[in-house]
Amino acid sequence: MSSHSSDSMPAVSRSVKDLRENVSSWRKHGLKVAFVPTMGALHEGHLSLVELARNKADKVVASIFINPRQFAAHEDLDTYPRNETEDLMKLVTAGCDLAFLPDAEEMYPQGYSTSVAVDGLSRDLCGLSRPHFFGGVATVVCKLLNQCQPDIAIFGEKDYQQLLVIKRMVRDLDMPVSIIGGPIIREEDGLAMSSRNAYLSSAEREVAGKLNRIMTSAINEIATGADIQVTLQRATNTLLTEGFDRVDYFELRRKADLSFIDKGTLPAAQLDTARLFAAVIIGKTRLIDNMPLSGT
Ligand code: AMP
Repeated sequence: MSSHSSDSMPAVSRSVKDLRENVSSWRKHGLKVAFVPTMGALHEGHLSLVELARNKADKVVASIFINPRQFAAHEDLDTYPRNETEDLMKLVTAGCDLAFLPDAEEMYPQGYSTSVAVDGLSRDLCGLSRPHFFGGVATVVCKLLNQCQPDIAIFGEKDYQQLLVIKRMVRDLDMPVSIIGGPIIREEDGLAMSSRNAYLSSAEREVAGKLNRIMTSAINEIATGADIQVTLQRATNTLLTEGFDRVDYFELRRKADLSFIDKGTLPAAQLDTARLFAAVIIGKTRLIDNMPLSGT
């Protein structure tokens, strides 16, 4: 069985068999199980999802697995931050009952050959510059949900496109789990928390903090009747003059299906249907963010 929890450490499972034994014994007792998948290097954004899980279920499982299948060869798999001991201490404080820490061999044993592809949604926005990404995410999340078999699973709106891809996969494959989104947790200057923020030098970090302000201004302008195309183009120019090296995208989309809203103005009655999505590059770091147009 898993190693036992103490005050400072949650119980840890490293095998699917052990995870299943824990979860099925809870379920036999009628307990509701929530699951929070992560890649570790945990910050308050991750922990807010664990706390949300705690509020919605009797038992909380969080996984830490840096999934090689969602990184392209030129990306940061080797340098992705790893802090297992600290992560476990943070998890127990946030209310996690069991941490699932499989290694790559447990997840993808010799001869592994199955992929999950969510068409359409995966080819847009982040999928354009990271064509491998959502296939890798859908495959690992499908496996994790099958391995854990939770009642609910919680994902951050920070990765809003990923949340939609997972909801679509769960619906399409009739997976018996409810997918719930948690709000974006931000630093004091509005930068969305991310494990990758650790890559930023102090000069880059200062630039990164401007993304929130530029997104918020664009939203306010569009919400008060400014032309969408003009506003998005002006904000993109501002990002470049304020020190961002590249803007991968800065677009207004419908929150339900990511379809484009790129012409004219947005009627007040449709504010609630829209979300602003951004991906920017500073030095070697790519940051993503998104915001609703109304308060919801
Ligand atoms: P990651 O470890 O980056 O794969 O993220 C694991 C989960 O935490 C995903 O569901 C993310 O969307 C979520 N997450 C990451 N950053 C934040 C944040 N700043 N606020 C809320 N959720 C987040």
